[in-house]
Order: sequence, then C-alpha cells, then structure tokens
Amino acid sequence: MRGLDHMKRALSRPNILESCLSSAMIPISQHRYPRNEVSMHTDSMKQNPSKHIFFGNVSLNRFSFLRSNSEFIGLAVRSSYTRLIFLNNHQPLCFYERENSFPSLKLLKVSMSEVSNGLRDYLYRWTESNKRQDESLWDFPAITFLGMDKKIGGLEFNSNIIDNTNTNQNFDSIENSKVNDGLFHYQSYSGVPCFAIDISNNQFLQDEIVKIIDDKTGHPVNNENLMNKADLLNLDTVNGPTTSTFIDHLMYLPNSEASVFSQSAMYIDWLTKNKYCSGCGSKNLIVNGGTQLKCSSHLPETPIDSKTCVVASSSRCNVAHPRTDVAVISSVTDTNGSKILLVNNKRYPVGNMYSCVAGFLEPSETIEACVTREIWEETNVVIENHNPGDIKILLSQPWPYPATLMIGCCGITNFNEKNEVIGLEHDNELNDAKWFDIDYIKEVIMENERIDNLLIEALKLGKKKDIELLRGEKANILKKEVVLPNKNTIALELIKRIVL
Ligand SMILES: [Zn+2]
Repeated sequence: MRGLDHMKRALSRPNILESCLSSAMIPISQHRYPRNEVSMHTDSMKQNPSKHIFFGNVSLNRFSFLRSNSEFIGLAVRSSYTRLIFLNNHQPLCFYERENSFPSLKLLKVSMSEVSNGLRDYLYRWTESNKRQDESLWDFPAITFLGMDKKIGGLEFNSNIIDNTNTNQNFDSIENSKVNDGLFHYQSYSGVPCFAIDISNNQFLQDEIVKIIDDKTGHPVNNENLMNKADLLNLDTVNGPTTSTFIDHLMYLPNSEASVFSQSAMYIDWLTKNKYCSGCGSKNLIVNGGTQLKCSSHLPETPIDSKTCVVASSSRCNVAHPRTDVAVISSVTDTNGSKILLVNNKRYPVGNMYSCVAGFLEPSETIEACVTREIWEETNVVIENHNPGDIKILLSQPWPYPATLMIGCCGITNFNEKNEVIGLEHDNELNDAKWFDIDYIKEVIMENERIDNLLIEALKLGKKKDIELLRGEKANILKKEVVLPNKNTIALELIKRIVL
C-alpha cells in the first residue's frame, strides 16, 4: 500500500532539527507527576544518537562515575581551565556575541582564572564540604558538576582571558605541566570541567558575577555585545527582555550550549525543590558533586534517628536520584498516509497553533499504551495497536521546563467510520482537534521555512528593508488558520516525519 510505504520512508529519515526563528512554545505543566526513572542502554544510544535534538546534544562527557570522587571534584574546581555556568531563577546568564551584523546568543561561561579570590575561596570551601558530606553543605547553593568537554573553544566568556601563562596565578599547582593542552587531567581522563551554579537569591554570588562582567567589558551596561547587567541577572528592565521573552531567546542558543543549559536547569530545579527528605523530613544534603541528595538524619545535629527514616535505612542506599518526568508526544496519521491529526490545546500561547497530542506517562504504563490512552482521552480517536508499526517510537527530546523527557512517537489510525471520529468531551483539554490533509500542512511548513531562511539571510547581511518586509510576512503567517510549533520542538519534527 502506498500509505504504509510512505510511512516507512518517513519513519526512516534522520533527525533534521535545526536552529529556529519561530517563537511559538509549548508550555509543559509544572505540576508534579509520579516519578518514572528512565534508563537507556548504551548500545541503543550509539545506534540512535540524539546529538541533533535541541536540548539533547551530547555536549559534555558527563563522567558520571567521577561525581562521587570528592578528590576529583576538589581538584577540578581548582583548575584554571574549569568553566562555571550560572543560573538565576531557572534561567541561564547569557550574552550576545556579534558575528558580522548578526547577533547570536551565547551562554556565559566563566573560567576559574576569571573569578575573584573571594569566589575562588568560596568554591574551594564547597569542595571541602562536598568531601565531608556534613551540615556545612547547607551554607552553599546548588552547585553541580556537569561533565568535561574536550573542546576549549566556544566555552569561554572571553577568549582573550584564557591563557595558559596565567594559570599559575593563585592556583594550586594541579595542572599537569607535562601536558600543556589546555585540558584538566585526572588519572586517564581529561577535558574542561564544567559546573553549574544557582545564584538565585544569593547576593554574594550575584555581586561576584556583576564584578566579573564589569572587569571584562569595561562598559557592561551599554556594550552592544552584552545584555546589560540586569539582563544578565535576568531581571526585568524597561528595555531588556522580560523573563517570559527570555525563554524565547533561549531557543536561539546554539544547540550545544542549550543542551548544557538543559542539563544544568534540570539538576538545579530538582536540587532546589527537594530540600527535605521525603522519608523523615530531615534536611537533605546535596552530595556527589551536586548530583545526588542525601538524608541528613545520620548527622549528630539532626534530631531524628536515621533508623526511623525509611529513605536513610533503605537496604539499597539513602540517596535520591534526580527526577525525570516522562511525557509522550505523538503525531497521528491514517493507513493511507493522507491525513494528519493535529490538536489545539487550551494552554497553547498562540491561539491558532496546532500540534501533536502529548501527555505524561503514568506508573506501570508502556509508552505504546500511553500513546493510545492520551490520543483517545483528548480526541476520541482510536489507535487499535493490533499490528507491529501501528505505534512507532521515533526520537526523544529533553525539555528543561522543568524536567521532562519527551518521547516522540507516531501512530496510525485505521479509518472505519468509528476510530477516526473526533470528540473533545472526555478530558476537555483541547479547544479543537482536526484531521488535516497532508498536502496542506506540507505547504504551511514549506512557507514557514522559506521565510525563515530569507530572514536569516537578511539578518546576516543587515538588509534592514528586507528584514522589515519579511517580519511582516512572518506576522501574517501567525494570523493564518494554522500555526505549527517551533522549529526546535520535537512536535514539529514529528509532524515533518509524517508530511514531508
Ligand atoms: Zn530521611
């Protein structure tokens, strides 16, 4: 059948997510859902690398086995090569780098050689607390070891500052003098260590960041290459982006940097929202380089006997692992591959946006069962799932708002005058759901891409009149019957797998 062949071809295409211009976002509810731990087999990751998925690039080697090695963490923080990333209220500090006339947003990554003695000492004291795992950890914010990158280029806030000749200033002598390659070496491992630090509500850290920016730019407020200090601290200003628009800005980050932010944001969100043990109410300690939580009932300062804490006395271990909320998102077509089911959710920020059906995986539910349940609950459409290939798991995308992994699927509905009938009465989540002709949605995608490509070109060349005209065309597109999701979302990728 032509339709099934079309599906097979569509499903075998490589991932083609690219940088975006569109700004439509799909909000994910921040309600807490039962936790599901997802483990992926290494071989399957090699076969299906997610390096092109926005927020899912493998930018760093996480060296997860080194997190519990306090000697490694202590030495890594003392390396002049180490880079620090800062988050304020879940948003990263960024700056604009101007390439020709085309400004590009970059993560602010400060090397240890750029920080003051005060901040350096502060971080050294954190490594000592991290080693002892005692109550002194409560004096520090969430600080997380992210991993190491082999590439020094692109990690600097200011490349002129990073100079091997400067590395002996105020640093413990930990660099391996025999290997002058700009990387930190530990045993047989090497790279540029990266740490994320939460500076929310921490006046000392915020002041230190402002000092660094002042030192490096000289004109931090008016320098066109930087957002002003308040923006860097992600505070609303008269002319600067507000917090909400700043999220849109993040979709312009290079994927390698967006993915580092995503990892940082998910860890810090979890660490800062779980200050107390769920078993006994004792304060939690952030241990293992800021990647695990540990109940403190074993400490003499804590009045609760650790034997009474079901978490601390667990036969497995008394640490909690980071939470990941698994959500399933699915495009749906018919057996002929001529229609696509798209929905308009009441929560969408753009009133005429149509996207895929999505929902959170429930405890003891397969991904396939979740796809059929969510589609039926939201639209009344039935995927029988009788045959292999009726539901395909295609790709996944981390989504750091706050800690979701989106599992992208495609389902096929067998039209029989019952399965395809749309009804919104079950859970009342949608404004609308429709079966669209594939050719129509294809036209919408092509028109969007044509304007985006022209706009990027005009921005690069600084053609102000063209930019104005194209932005006008873009605004008209947003008024049409159907607006599709952002280019960097898994939702658009799933739609493209069906229609292109
Ligand atoms: Zn406890």
